[in-house]
Amino acid sequence: MAARRHGRREFLGILGLGAAAVISGCGVLGRARRAALASPEVLPPSTTTVVPSTTTTTSTTVATTTTTTPTSTTDSALGSGGSLPGIPDPHPGPPSVVFRAPTATNQIALTIDDGYCVECADDYVQFALRSGIRITFSPNGTYNEIWDPLAATLRPLIEAGQVQIANHTYNHRNLLKLGESEIVEQIERNEDWIEATFGITGRPWFRPPYGWHDERTDEVAGGVGYTQILMWSGSFGDSAVLTPDQLLAQAEKWLLPGTIMLGHANHPTVTTLFGQIEDLIAQRNLSPVTLDEMFGTSRAVG
Ligand SMILES: [Zn+2]
Repeated sequence: MAARRHGRREFLGILGLGAAAVISGCGVLGRARRAALASPEVLPPSTTTVVPSTTTTTSTTVATTTTTTPTSTTDSALGSGGSLPGIPDPHPGPPSVVFRAPTATNQIALTIDDGYCVECADDYVQFALRSGIRITFSPNGTYNEIWDPLAATLRPLIEAGQVQIANHTYNHRNLLKLGESEIVEQIERNEDWIEATFGITGRPWFRPPYGWHDERTDEVAGGVGYTQILMWSGSFGDSAVLTPDQLLAQAEKWLLPGTIMLGHANHPTVTTLFGQIEDLIAQRNLSPVTLDEMFGTSRAVG
């Protein structure tokens, strides 16, 4: 095992910290196919990196939520008129790593990362607009040329509590290789962009790039108010380029009660399947919600 993992210290670090519940785009596939389809988290086309593989242990969920904030964001925090709350101050604290819903529920949380494909990001936003399905996007500010033009469409959905924005860092770098000040810069630069672009804070929801994190990076994130370290319990597997059949198989496998679902706005395959994914959610009587709704956090408190 160790020999086969030679050179995958980042990955070992993840497992060693008990974050084995990470289900990546690869983790849902057979071991032999992982190397080919790989990667829990996407890379920008211009960069190269090691692709971690991950282990699936959905039963050992560590879904903790220490946040006690007002619920009902649409009614109170956002106001019936749809106006956004002001940006709240950060609330630094000990981090909690979250994989799935905290209690038995028919809720699911669709969490869609990155967004370096213009038509994919646009199609996802149009899907949200058309369907009313609740989605949490975790865009990187480095793709601002793609996301900024979508902000006008997204803002009313954000105001209505249908769409939430989480922080996924500005440049999507491997935090395990960064010093504390660099991690803070990556988080806060993206927070600044989220605030300026979408009018809300991303706090306290932080998804580490590639899902790579350890106690140190979690503590740094918690120190700037990102106390909820967002992992996932199911994945479309689309950090790699999948065929429609492959992606739909992942949807059928993982869209289950309580799932935090990982997806990416990076490759067009998913955009051809929105109708089928929507049907699957309806057939299974699942209720898509934002992280705020699943965990009782709010944009007014952050
Ligand atoms: Zn990512």
